[in-house]
Amino acid sequence: MAEQCIPFHRASIGQDEIDAVTQVLQSRWLTTGPKAHQFEADFSAFVGAHYAIAVNSCRAALQLAVDAIEIAPGDEVLVPTYTFAATAAVVVQAGAIPILCDSSRNGFNVDLPSIEGRIISRARAIISVHIAGEPCDLDGIHSVAKQHGLHVIEDAAHALPDYRGRKIGGLSELTAFSFYATKTLTTGEGGMLTTNNEAYARRAARMRLHGMSGDAWKRYAKEGSWYYEVTDAGYKLNLCDILAAIGLVQLKKCHAFRQKRRTIGEEYLRRFSMVSELDLPPTGNSDSTHAWHLFILRLNTSSLSITREEFMEQLKARGVGTSVHFIPLHLHPFYQQRFGYKTGDFPYAEDAFSRCISLPIFPDMTESEGERVVEIVIETAKVNRKKTFALAI
Ligand SMILES: *Cc1c(COP(=O)(O)O)cnc(C)c1O
Repeated sequence: MAEQCIPFHRASIGQDEIDAVTQVLQSRWLTTGPKAHQFEADFSAFVGAHYAIAVNSCRAALQLAVDAIEIAPGDEVLVPTYTFAATAAVVVQAGAIPILCDSSRNGFNVDLPSIEGRIISRARAIISVHIAGEPCDLDGIHSVAKQHGLHVIEDAAHALPDYRGRKIGGLSELTAFSFYATKTLTTGEGGMLTTNNEAYARRAARMRLHGMSGDAWKRYAKEGSWYYEVTDAGYKLNLCDILAAIGLVQLKKCHAFRQKRRTIGEEYLRRFSMVSELDLPPTGNSDSTHAWHLFILRLNTSSLSITREEFMEQLKARGVGTSVHFIPLHLHPFYQQRFGYKTGDFPYAEDAFSRCISLPIFPDMTESEGERVVEIVIETAKVNRKKTFALAI
């Protein structure tokens, strides 16, 4: 009997999301309008930030954040090497230099001493990332930033919704969220920038839509007018109402989603802890809350007779979809050619990357799917255990 495949991810979309989209289509107001504004209001209340600016990706939110703190050509911005391309691309596109930093010895998140060791006078900001949803050492990062007069932007693409009992989103000057299809809350494509700083919020809202003083919704609404002023050469990064309507529904399910991810994550931790070929992901400090966007195992390759790629192939052959998060930035051709980074620069990040496998973890996963993932991963580890020869003395 052919077993059903378990995909790496399957989005949680219910009839309520479908109805919400239908309602927007029927309203005939398709672009940024009442739904996007409501989504911003609900989101800022949810994370406890004064302002939320809805955009069409996390990349867009990061770009607006870098723009808000006026990162300029020649500036340096500290960025973990262990992250997705977007975190550093916004720095490069502002003409600034991404100063990559290593991961901590036994994890994925950035190493604080690595940041401190790379700060020089041209450093202007730190972009922190909560890899897989494990809260990074924000308190430590804030204190280093304060000491050196640096801005802090959070790439919270993985981190909705918590940090040590507080919500991520109002803790740093600017925080960027992703609503990409696989993230903890999705609109298909989308993102949000949050801040407590009114000037940043005003500028980001303007730059998001052509650098104009008002948005289309207000201009065409009855109480608005046809008049607008262009005050900057802006971007086009707004979130349309069709997608915002999905976000409004998803936001209400956010805690339930987190609970489901957490149940799966904790079960994986419990079951894999008994297998010496598998290194468990760090779960952060005891007082922090993991969002479990990803569950990243690291293979103990020295005790396995197969490579990470072969391990993934064997899981795939048995119907378990996996992925790799992430190829550190300094191993990519662009960062090597443009900034001179090379293999060997960040040994902890390279070690984590060379051994990591992201397992399926999503709210719609059934208990039997979770059980099958556990069994197949454990069997694959056991079957490929390196044979050790006992020395007879
Ligand atoms: C997904 C992701 C992004 C980009 O999100 P988009 O919404 O696709 O732009 C940025 N940073 C990290 C760490 C991510 O995983």
